[in-house]
Amino acid sequence: MRTSARRITLASALVGTLVLGAASSYAVTSGLTGTGDATRHDGDQTRQVRSEIRQGPARNVILLIGDGMGDSEITIARNYQYGAAGELPGIDALPLTGQYTTYALDPSNGLPDYVTDSAASGTGWATGTKTYNGAISVDLDGNSHATILELAKKAGLRTGNVSTAEIQDATPAVLMSHVATRGCKSPSGMDACEAQKIENGGPGSITEQTLATRPDVVLGGGARYFAETATAGEYAGMTLMDQATERGFNVVTDAAALESVQAADQDAPLLGVFAPSHLPTVWNGPLATPTGGSEPAVTCEENPAHTADIPTVEAMTTKAIDVLDDRHARKGFFLQVEGASIDKQDHAANPCAQLGENVDFDHAVRAAMDFAERDGNTLVVVSADHGHTSQIVYPGITTPGLTRTLTTADGQPMTIAYGTAAQGHSQTHTGTQVRIAGYGPGAANVVGLTDQTDLFFTMKNALGLDKKHGHGWWPWGR
Ligand SMILES: [Zn+2]
Repeated sequence: MRTSARRITLASALVGTLVLGAASSYAVTSGLTGTGDATRHDGDQTRQVRSEIRQGPARNVILLIGDGMGDSEITIARNYQYGAAGELPGIDALPLTGQYTTYALDPSNGLPDYVTDSAASGTGWATGTKTYNGAISVDLDGNSHATILELAKKAGLRTGNVSTAEIQDATPAVLMSHVATRGCKSPSGMDACEAQKIENGGPGSITEQTLATRPDVVLGGGARYFAETATAGEYAGMTLMDQATERGFNVVTDAAALESVQAADQDAPLLGVFAPSHLPTVWNGPLATPTGGSEPAVTCEENPAHTADIPTVEAMTTKAIDVLDDRHARKGFFLQVEGASIDKQDHAANPCAQLGENVDFDHAVRAAMDFAERDGNTLVVVSADHGHTSQIVYPGITTPGLTRTLTTADGQPMTIAYGTAAQGHSQTHTGTQVRIAGYGPGAANVVGLTDQTDLFFTMKNALGLDKKHGHGWWPWGR
């Protein structure tokens, strides 16, 4: 099907771009063809930028994390789908941008570990605390730190957590649970988390803690863990899915059932589990290989595994916002949305699946921005948890690593290189700073160079949350 996933979605994307152009204070030259004039801003921007700076507090915060979405991943997605002079209708619409550092800590000495994973980075933005790779909202000493979702809930706000991965995966897990290492997802996987075992008086696995934390909305994959049986505690002998039902969750397992949900609250929180593991990617294509860069350029295809009964991240985001936003409630909401498989397909050296997830994630960002622009009192932050492997290199070349050449929306070849692992092995994260972008009350706090842990305070302050929270620990003083 070489009509390509891109052309199928281009029409709606163009509509999105035009709407954005009208709503944005930025003059954007959307050049899908090489016209020579590719400027993105018309004249001096001082007044435009000033008008985008608004002080908090915000009623709502929507945080969208593109897992592994470094600058090169964003550029790859933009080039392929909208052309080099085009723009991503969601991510590129956020007016205030900065960069943040993402390093973790080496547990042997507390000094920087320059390449983070999603667990340590998530603990950073979720709790304001630097920690070691693998840690789920615990610090170097194993102490739990309250998360932005827990604090928001405690303050009476509604809360939601959405991912295209298993909801037990590190990024969603850091908001709802505290375990020594990210693999402790279910009762059968607790070997490395002795202190968290229910048998030892602990709070249990990530799945069990998710049910106890009880956000109003949790959407993603990971059904295989809910099929396990609790080994101790009040629900011993019961599957975790039966436990969810017993505890009052409204469980849905396909897109149609999600669409029909009208409300979610503490009486009946919404739990959507749409796949045994991670949700399938929306697009697919040939992997990068040692000679792929010099082979004929390809276009990406829709992935038949992403069937109509699996909701898109945009559909999950829209539904989460719909049920969390209650104009009659005194308080607002906190929502996190993760585009997880940008990272997972970067690991796999699959450029089409990777950039398709980035384009799809951007639709969720656009949905969040549409809501925030209507609402007028919502802080939207878009960032990544860490950098990743993929790089745009000279067209048609091969490298010592893996490459693949794609035909972009410009009709030009774009060669993507993966160079952090050999063929057949998982490509690795990288330690670069990544983009953070904001819109709405408090968004000025993302400008310049910050650290991932600063995002916790940006969100907490925007929501006016009282901080009953341990302090971060930086042994070198910061
Ligand atoms: Zn990863």
